[in-house]
Amino acid sequence: HSDVAMLDVKESGKNNYRLYSESIEAIRTRRMLLEQYLKCAIDNDELTLHYQPKLDLALNKIVGVEALLRWTNRQLGHVSPYEFIPIAECSGIINEIGEWIMRSACQQFNAWRKQTADLSLIVAINISGVQLLQPNFLDRIRRLFAEEEVDPCHFELEVTESFAIENFEEVINILIELRNLGFMISIDDFGAGYSSMKYVCQLPIQCMKLDKTLIDQLADNIRSQVVVSSLIEMAHRLQLTVVAEGVELPEQFRILQTYRCDQIQGFLISKPVPAGRIIEMLNSSDLFQVPETK
Ligand code: C2E
Ligand code: MG
Ligand code: MG
Ligand code: MG
Repeated sequence: HSDVAMLDVKESGKNNYRLYSESIEAIRTRRMLLEQYLKCAIDNDELTLHYQPKLDLALNKIVGVEALLRWTNRQLGHVSPYEFIPIAECSGIINEIGEWIMRSACQQFNAWRKQTADLSLIVAINISGVQLLQPNFLDRIRRLFAEEEVDPCHFELEVTESFAIENFEEVINILIELRNLGFMISIDDFGAGYSSMKYVCQLPIQCMKLDKTLIDQLADNIRSQVVVSSLIEMAHRLQLTVVAEGVELPEQFRILQTYRCDQIQGFLISKPVPAGRIIEMLNSSDLFQVPETK
């Protein structure tokens, strides 16, 4: 969208319209291409999951990981989930991909468990609203976890705050059922969208993930400090765990520490990494000395 907007302001008149429609055409072509390749991505073995650790501040220990999808196609190269997830959602391919994600994450969890005797790790997966609202989702997820022999209590489902808006009643009921199956539910990207307090009050969530956009301003904006500290306090009074997303700077880390934020996730701790790297991170406790700020 941004390239369209840029063309829009630079040129005017007929020429502008031509460029505009050409770039709309280019976007449409790219979408169609991605959709076409995405349909074969599972069969061609093009998908992998990377895992990003979540550091618990009180324990100074990694207590969870978030599974993040990676797609590398021979023609397209690496494609960002920000680009292909919406296409997968529109075309319905997300249901099949979502199933693949859950199964892979379960199998990975079992592999980690074999390598580590007393593994205590919560694996979070992102669940698309489209996927959640497909008929039989509850039956499918229940069957999948039973087949893979994973107790749902080891898993957390991240749902974004934005998708719930249109189907609020339906979503609540599904989340309650998922909760009854034993999954933890977290609200992802909190603060990025409408952040309606209605969701915080009514959704059966255990965890709130503060969006990176809130964290970005933390070190140099007093108002943002007030907002974040108040959100953390509110979440705690609601018995919710708070995770800060996208923490990149030691300064942000320290501020969040003083606010008693529960967990930190971000490049400061680690980028998302291949599954093989996670065990070594769980074992090294001295990884997380926060560097001095200049
Ligand atoms: P998200 O669920 O909010 O995931 C966090 C995103 O922020 C990830 O981007 C992660 O790599 C990035 N990130 C984490 N820490 C930092 C940081 O310190 N700095 C910066 N600049 N970025 C950071 P990623 O992996 O590109 O995923 C983007 C979005 O795509 C995700 O946002 C999620 O909404 C969606 N997504 C990714 N994987 C899946 C999946 O398996 N299923 C579904 N349904 N959606 C997914
Ligand atoms: Mg997420
Ligand atoms: Mg997020
Ligand atoms: Mg986010």
